[in-house]
This record gives sequence, structure tokens and C-alpha cells, in this order.
Amino acid sequence: MAMMTAGLGTAGAVGLAAGGCAYAAMWPGSRIFGQSLIAPKKPGELALTFDDGPNPAWTPRLLEALAKHEVKATFFMLGSRAEAEVALVRRVAAEGHLIGNHSWSHLNLAVTGAERVREELRRTSETLEQITGAPVKFFRPPFGARRPAVLRIARELGLTPVLWNAMTSDWSEPSADAIVQRLTEKVDRLEQRGWAANIVLHDGGHAETAADRGPSVAAAERLMERYKATRRFVTVEAWG
Ligand SMILES: [Zn+2]
Repeated sequence: MAMMTAGLGTAGAVGLAAGGCAYAAMWPGSRIFGQSLIAPKKPGELALTFDDGPNPAWTPRLLEALAKHEVKATFFMLGSRAEAEVALVRRVAAEGHLIGNHSWSHLNLAVTGAERVREELRRTSETLEQITGAPVKFFRPPFGARRPAVLRIARELGLTPVLWNAMTSDWSEPSADAIVQRLTEKVDRLEQRGWAANIVLHDGGHAETAADRGPSVAAAERLMERYKATRRFVTVEAWG
């Protein structure tokens, strides 16, 4: 399978020495721990991805916005949340969105033992597959944290690791304006350099079951309005 990265990894890889591992493991573009899907050289394409759900308070609102704009998105779900929100998971799948694995309980997998990592991933894929009847093919590590063992375990479970190239701290940002402004700067810069944009937003919160994600959902809708005429919205399956 061809993997392409956005070429953002140099800074993370340079100067890696003793003591540098924690930093490199958290660096989204780092390629030293094996390749992960970020985004291809396909200007004009844009993937909206949402992490940490499903969230009974906000995922339904997000689904309405996506339906209104006829956009399909990618949802990296926590297995523990999916198990508690079966009907909502079914709705996400039924509306044509792609569902990926974001682990069971959102541990930092860069510092989690191999057996626990395998169980976090396996149990989540199994739960999602039981709910939707569709195979789970993509995995986003919580916090972007990974190490070679995590990527190997993911691949053994048939999962392609996926990172991102456009992110802001939407989970702590009270203003949709600020989220949109930061993300559009990144998306436009990627476009100028010839890259597709892999945008991460959060419809859930790993520390809170029904986290307030109003600003993130509003920002997603504004991004759809802004880019609808000029970009093609895809799920990460189009690249993987
Ligand atoms: Zn997360």
C-alpha cells in the first residue's frame, strides 16, 4: 500500500538522540517510527476528520451539518464511547461516513505495554465492526503518540495508522472564528505547496463524555461553506 506523508517530519526527525524520543513520538509528521498516512499530493482534496466521539450532545449536530452540505467525513471513535452510543454509531455509518479506531480508552500508546495496546485496538475494532457490520481499516493514535510497536500492532490488526496535517487546539478554543482562521491558514498553505489537507477536529472529548464541542462543530460547518465550491471533500479511505 502506498503511503504518502506531507513532508512535515523533518523537524521531528532532526536531532533525534537520547532523550529525544518522547518529543519525536508526539510529533505528527515524524517518520522515524514508520510511515503513517497523512495526506497525498492531491491539491484540491480535503478530509474532515473528527476524534474522541461519539458524543451524544454534539455528534448529531455535526451529522446534520455534514448532511446539509453533502460532505462525507471520517470519525475516529473511542471504543468505550461507541459501546455506550450504539445507535449513534449506526447513524454515523448509515449516513455514509467512514469510522476509524481511536483506541478504547485514549491512553498514550507511546508509553503503554504491547499487550495493552493490542487489547485497546482489537477491542475497539471488534466493537465498531459488531455495531456497523463493516470492517475497520484505519486507526488514529490518541495524541498522535506512537512507537514502532504500536504501528506494528496496528498493521497486524489490519489497521492503517492515520495522522493529520492541519490541526489547532479546537478542544480548548471557545471561538469558532479562531478555529476557522487557524485551520484555513494551514489548509491554504498546504494547497499552495500542492498537498491535500487532513484536518482534525474533535466532536468528543476523551476526558468528558458529553464535552461541549459547539465551537468545533460550528467551525466544521464554516469550513464546509468556505471550501465547498473549490475543494473536494473526501474520507481518508480515498487516500489509503
Ligand atoms: Zn483523541
